[in-house]
Amino acid sequence: MASKYSMNDRPSWPRRAIVTAGEPYGNKGLHFGHVGGVFVPADFFARFLRDRLGRENVIFTSGTDCYGSPIMESYRKLKENEGYDKSIGEYVESNHSRQAATLNNYNISCDIYGGSGLEPAAQIHNEVTAEIIERLHEQGTISKRSTLQFHDAKAGTFLNGRQVIGRCPIQGCKSEKAYADECDLGHQFEPEELIAPKSQLTGEVPELRPVDNLYFDLPAYLDFMKTYTAKLAQNPQVRSVVSKTMEEWLLPAQLYIQNKFREAFDAVEDQLPEHTVLEPEGNKSSFTVTFPSWKERDDAHAVLANGGVRFRSGKALVPFRITGNIDWGVPVPEVDGVTDVTCWCWPESLWAPISYTRTVLARDAKAAGVTEGVAAQDAALMGEPAADSTQVPAPTYQHSSLDWRDWWCSDDAQIYQFIGQDNIYFYCIAQTAMWEALGWDLTQSTVSACYHLLYMGKKASSSSQTPPPPADDLLNHYTCEQMRAHWLSLGLSEKPVSFSPKAYDTRVTGKDKNGNEVRACDDKRVIDPALKESALLTGVFNRLARSCFYGVAVKEGDESPYRNGCIPAGTASATVVEAAQQAVLAFEQAMYKFETHRALAVCDDYLRAANKRWSDASKAANKLEGEPANAAMTQALVDAFTELRVATVLMHGIVPAGCELICEYFDFDPVAFFSWDNIFASTDEFVESLGEKPGEHRVKPLPPRFDFFSKHESQY
Ligand SMILES: [Zn+2]
Repeated sequence: MASKYSMNDRPSWPRRAIVTAGEPYGNKGLHFGHVGGVFVPADFFARFLRDRLGRENVIFTSGTDCYGSPIMESYRKLKENEGYDKSIGEYVESNHSRQAATLNNYNISCDIYGGSGLEPAAQIHNEVTAEIIERLHEQGTISKRSTLQFHDAKAGTFLNGRQVIGRCPIQGCKSEKAYADECDLGHQFEPEELIAPKSQLTGEVPELRPVDNLYFDLPAYLDFMKTYTAKLAQNPQVRSVVSKTMEEWLLPAQLYIQNKFREAFDAVEDQLPEHTVLEPEGNKSSFTVTFPSWKERDDAHAVLANGGVRFRSGKALVPFRITGNIDWGVPVPEVDGVTDVTCWCWPESLWAPISYTRTVLARDAKAAGVTEGVAAQDAALMGEPAADSTQVPAPTYQHSSLDWRDWWCSDDAQIYQFIGQDNIYFYCIAQTAMWEALGWDLTQSTVSACYHLLYMGKKASSSSQTPPPPADDLLNHYTCEQMRAHWLSLGLSEKPVSFSPKAYDTRVTGKDKNGNEVRACDDKRVIDPALKESALLTGVFNRLARSCFYGVAVKEGDESPYRNGCIPAGTASATVVEAAQQAVLAFEQAMYKFETHRALAVCDDYLRAANKRWSDASKAANKLEGEPANAAMTQALVDAFTELRVATVLMHGIVPAGCELICEYFDFDPVAFFSWDNIFASTDEFVESLGEKPGEHRVKPLPPRFDFFSKHESQY
């Protein structure tokens, strides 16, 4: 068989890597979409990189996005409707603790799961925010802009974000909800463009009043973004949907106007700033007006509104708002005469991963007693988390550099960001231009943009008739490892996929013998789509591991030479060496492109073939007698142990607990066992590298009927 993958054609990996998972908002717990669609893929990738690059060279960050008007709104409602009597900080902390507990339940191995407003990261995040805003100002890329903001005269307060609700003015937008200056699909617009605004506080129609804020000059980066996007389109690692979505934002500033307003438009056209009109194509119902830049388009708004012309805006780069006047935000230093403002997501959630990285390094500096440098200064800022807060456990080892720039601004480091496809504008447009503007040599991110995880074939929405289950609830029906393997098999990097766990399927699928309706969840004939990968774990993988360990176990009355409790010495057969090498190389290529489903498929094929080889070889050996039987069985065991070791390393990021249990029975140091530095070594070479003699490494005796991967108790 011709080899498909070559040792000379492997993807290149950086020396160090940051992995980030999109930050969940701090007003609720995590539903399955957060965990299955973002955290599990990111965790798989981070665990793979730790094995591939060395665990000290990887920092995996995420955290609770703590600030902003949606949190203020949920907090206000909780206080008013349910008599909640704690502070907003305690409210966010309780949600963060719930989120961290869920991530622990799913074995998500963040180096830090912080919180932008929670210790230990809060003060460091304030510092990073101030440094970034002052630096952007120093670079001349942020400035004061006066805009109109909604004001609720009855409540006597300015309204932000979700405190105003209306309809999105962006042409063709399918969102159901739009807020003061963005819709829930991330389109940004000017407040005066919002259709049918209403105050959430009083239900009144709010008025618009002028306010001063800081804006990042995003339109100045149009040419840079065009070049960058064209380059990105050539990058095989990043899916084309990313560059295609970015291109949509790099169009000229345009307005779309329905043909029925044509007369009104013609009446005011001579008052408009410079523009060109593109007549409707074919039987389209609107015509297009193009302006030289967003400024002229903005100026046109008032002219058209006064002339009674309704319009919708096309996507284009507009100034990116950095600050606002929300109390519950990150404090912002006075810049350009703008005072008493704060910032919250989006801008600050883009640099939160830098704050979290610095928090991880501050923790390292503190543990190592380092007293100089940024990490030591950050350590002095770092506070203690609340006593009763739940944390994702911190690593027990030190990372390879305490200097955050070695991670974020270095040619031999990469930043891998796992994001939802809805957020491409923020991570790929706004962040890319801002990183360039900072002039700190920040490395641009490599993003894995995932599609939505659908629930029972529909877009998951907590307000729908069958609301998606909270992530923790699934663990009443499935094991963590079953869920991880299932989600990773779905291929969310290629298309939206439905998660349809049978345990939650209430459709009627038949009748029992008394004529009563039977629902899918109780119907024995219905196969559970969520358990498709479970057989690989509880069947195939388990069987291979058991065969190896039981195969060498000391057995009373059995004098076979291989039954000495040790991994037998010897060279694996050529087929086995070739199969292992091909599986490793195929797996690595899949990981390079974030194709988790392909990586899992490689393991699936490999494990099934390994099991078959063992079954055939051990059966053949059992038919022999005397010395030839011993030799044949020893060879079968050498082969099976080789395949088990390679499969366990590959599967480590997918189902970490079971693989670490296998390693425990191998009785090897886990760091060496899982390291890709040893993945092509023969078992004998590996044993020798640990200072032992081949054939003399003793495995831990396996108790009878042992399971490395068990089913959920409800599945028996
Ligand atoms: Zn929209």
